This record gives sequence, structure tokens and C-alpha cells, in this order.
Amino acid sequence: AKVNGRNQMSFYHPSMNRDLVRRREIEAELRQAVQRDELSIFFQPIVDLETGRIRCFEALVRWFHPEKGEMRPDEFIPVAEETGAIVTLGNWILAQAAQIAAHWPEHVTLAVNLSPLQIRTPGAALGILAALKEAGLDPHRLELEITESVLVDHDQTTEAFIAELSQAGVRFALDDFGTGYSSLAYLHKYPFGKIKVDRSFVSGSHVGKKSEAIIRAVSEMGSTLEMEIVAEGIETIEQVRTVREAGCTLGQGYYFSRAVPDYLATMLLAREQQT
Ligand code: C2E
Ligand code: CA
Ligand code: CA
Ligand code: CA
Repeated sequence: AKVNGRNQMSFYHPSMNRDLVRRREIEAELRQAVQRDELSIFFQPIVDLETGRIRCFEALVRWFHPEKGEMRPDEFIPVAEETGAIVTLGNWILAQAAQIAAHWPEHVTLAVNLSPLQIRTPGAALGILAALKEAGLDPHRLELEITESVLVDHDQTTEAFIAELSQAGVRFALDDFGTGYSSLAYLHKYPFGKIKVDRSFVSGSHVGKKSEAIIRAVSEMGSTLEMEIVAEGIETIEQVRTVREAGCTLGQGYYFSRAVPDYLATMLLAREQQT
């Protein structure tokens, strides 16, 4: 770091250049990834903490790059958001996931993540309903996960999007709760059925008595508002106990299962049917 004339710090590090190059590469290759069949959708179960049964699967995109190997969405989703590629990519993910979910038992729902740009695209709500129809998935079985960042600079398009879809029966979950503004106004204004408490409160480095108290407070508020509380990032049996005692009714995390390919998701469901 060096100090500039006007007391501003500027940082230069060779890794910045590398990052930029890598982003450019990702941008170019992402465009071809769908055609080349390099993307696939994995599914992570969301489990009823009372019965242990699978209630939902969250669709999580994976990119198996021929040279770079498996790339995590945290590497390429932000690039896709910046370039606008997320709109096409997001439509593809939803359509694929809906087709797979249509084969699951009725009571199992599908959760799909939505980026802000997808919501602001004209005709987005109609597009989603058309994809559901095409796949034969009842709108009640779809849950769209959105973060507060979508709502912070919300406009009429966002409001119309949510209203249109929830009228058709699609449900909404507030994702990564506790990491953003966590404004109670959003909970009041929008029809969320679920709140997903961010992993950092469950298995992150800041876990302790304080985070437990926060989960408890969110759960109490949730049950008053008739919203279900999902604890994300559960990795141990102790964490299962803690979040249950704090009032969460649903859980997701490596303790139950990582995100798995669709045939393994089907196997998990088949195994449940036998018991
Ligand atoms: P998210 O929506 O918060 O998804 C949960 C992330 O936490 C997933 O990472 C999941 O694999 C990971 N996870 C689940 N359980 C555990 C656990 O017990 N411990 C730990 N350490 N991690 C756990 P993933 O799949 O890498 O996705 C990262 C983020 O990328 C997602 O965060 C979501 O914001 C975004 N993303 C993934 N797929 C899509 C997509 O199809 N569309 C959009 N717009 N975003 C996506
Ligand atoms: Ca999510
Ligand atoms: Ca999350
Ligand atoms: Ca996240």
C-alpha cells in the first residue's frame, strides 16, 4: 500500500491483475458453458427438524470446467450478475430444476435462488410461470429465495414481480437473513413464508451465546408472523440441537447432506418412502 498525495491509500497487488484476467475469462467462457453442457444443477435437502424428513431441495448451480475443474457459484455468479448473463443463466436453471422437481413426490418443494437482475427483467414473472407450466410443476411447489439486497432498492417492478407470482401460488423465502439490513419492514411488506438464517449464525466463526439468542429472537418473530425459520449451514449434531432449541423448524447443511446430483436426490427420496 502506498499513500497518495491527498491522504488516500491506494493498493496495488499483482493478484488484482490476475483477478481481472480471470473474470474476463469467466465472462467469455460462461457464455458457452450452457451449450457445452458444462453446467449442472445440484440439489441440497432442507429437512424437517422434527421428523428428519426432506421437505424441500434447494437448486444450486455447478460448473464443471474442462480445465479449471469444478467452479463454485461464488466465483461465477457475481460475474454473471455484472455482465447480465445471469438472466439467461437463471432462466435455464429454473427451467431445468423445475423439470427435475416435477418427478418428486407432491409434498417436496423446489427452492431456486434469484438474482436482483432477474427480477427486474420485464416479463420475468410470466417467464417463470411459463417454465413451470412447461415442466408440469405446480406453482405452489416453487419457492424463490431472494436476499434483502433485492429489496433494498426495490421499485415497482420488484413489487409487481412478487405480487404476480405469489398470486399464482409461488412462495418466497428471505435468504441469508442477518447478513444484510435485516429490516423488519421487508417482512411486513412482502409475503415471505420462510426466513433462512444465515450460516454465519449457525456454524460460522461468530457462533456463541449471542448468535443463539439472535436465532431465538428471529424464530419467535417468525412464529408470530407465521413464517418458518430455516437454519442454514448445519454441520454437527450439536448445531441441530442448538437451532431446534432456538425454535427453528427446518434445517439445511452438510450434517444432513451436501448438494447432490439429481439422481442422488431421487435416491434420498426413494429411501425415505421405504421407512
Ligand atoms: P446460498 O443461497 O446461501 O446457498 C447455500 C450455500 O451454502 C451453498 O453453496 C451450499 O453448498 C453451502 N452450504 C450448505 N450447507 C453448508 C454447510 O453445512 N456448511 C458450509 N460451509 N456450507 C454449506 P454454493 O452452492 O457454493 O452456493 C453459493 C451461493 O451461490 C449461494 O448461496 C447462492 O447465493 C449462489 N447460487 C448458487 N446457485 C445459484 C443459482 O442457481 N442462481 C443464483 N442466482 N445464485 C446461485
Ligand atoms: Ca439460497
Ligand atoms: Ca443462504
Ligand atoms: Ca449466500
